[in-house]
Amino acid sequence: MASEVFHIPAGTGKSMSDMAERVGRLADAVGLGEIAAGDLFFMLKTHFGERGNNSYVKAAWITPLIEKMKAGGTKVFVSDTNTLYVGARSNAVDHLTVAREHGFTFDTLGAPVIIADGLVGENQSPVEVDLKHYRQVYIANDVRAADGIVVITNVTGHVLTGYAGAIKNVGMGLAGRGGKRSQHCDLSPEISPKKCVACGTCAQWCPTSAITVKKIAEIDKAKCIGCGECYAVCRYGAVNFSWSETSANMQEKLVEHCCGALKGKSNRCVFFNFITHVTKNCNCIGRGEQDEIPPLGIVAGTDMVAVDQACVDLCNKAAGEDLFARLYPSWDHSIQLSYAEEVGIGSRAYKLIGIS
Ligand code: SF4
Ligand code: SF4
Repeated sequence: MASEVFHIPAGTGKSMSDMAERVGRLADAVGLGEIAAGDLFFMLKTHFGERGNNSYVKAAWITPLIEKMKAGGTKVFVSDTNTLYVGARSNAVDHLTVAREHGFTFDTLGAPVIIADGLVGENQSPVEVDLKHYRQVYIANDVRAADGIVVITNVTGHVLTGYAGAIKNVGMGLAGRGGKRSQHCDLSPEISPKKCVACGTCAQWCPTSAITVKKIAEIDKAKCIGCGECYAVCRYGAVNFSWSETSANMQEKLVEHCCGALKGKSNRCVFFNFITHVTKNCNCIGRGEQDEIPPLGIVAGTDMVAVDQACVDLCNKAAGEDLFARLYPSWDHSIQLSYAEEVGIGSRAYKLIGIS
């Protein structure tokens, strides 16, 4: 059966108040006020943006969601988990510092900001899923404690999955450190001697100090956890993966972590995908990137698979091509959608309802 997905186009103005007002109208269409009402804890899962990134969903855009949830008596907190890599968000102290720099504070949001997996990502527990790759997945404990989740996603391409939407945001972003590590463990990068200029950037970002730079970068396979950061930060195209199999496994593992993160909350989850800055890489990249297509607005619904499928279709229509296949031609980004449908998270069939 087709799931209802709501879409509000981008405004002609780019002001914060214009976008916030659109978000509020979309929330009413989805029924957020009713879904989130009660004596409940609700997580508003967002991405505060890596330091230097400017494509993340802005704090002022999501405050109407917080107001609507609080109006129903719900206790709301704004949250994300720590990263595996050595960026500015790998522990809660640095992470909250970046969040504040990007405008996410109690004063601006009207809700506290909490890092869901603790000081260094240790606050996690196993959740039974009993699927193809995992019997249990490691999920951040504050995710498990929440009664419901509102997921805010900036739609982008992604170095490991081709497309990054709600499934990527939940599957990786709500996993604890153990869950993140296990999703990356199949990936094994290789350095091209012809392309590497020994700039050292990959070594600076590698979370396990697996890279040393001599004449070229060299990777210690025993230390590598396959996080893909070296691929993402190399500007010379010198890092390669065997993508065909590894990306498929990675996408399926993401989906299985979604099952764990959302377990027991299926009626209390809402997904807001922002098609406002569709860049080649995700918001974990600490630099600005050009948008691949113009802003298309915001898509929302209670079925994350339908919301992601609608976003892929809208982006492709605007681009006049399979946008994510052009950005990452070596792998099939639709695996995450088909596997999510297969395990029962949602439906790729949707009915798009326009909101003016
Ligand atoms: S970032 Fe790229 S070019 Fe620079 S050292 Fe690493 S692999 Fe070589
Ligand atoms: S060498 Fe391995 S651990 Fe280090 S950044 Fe690359 S993929 Fe990640």
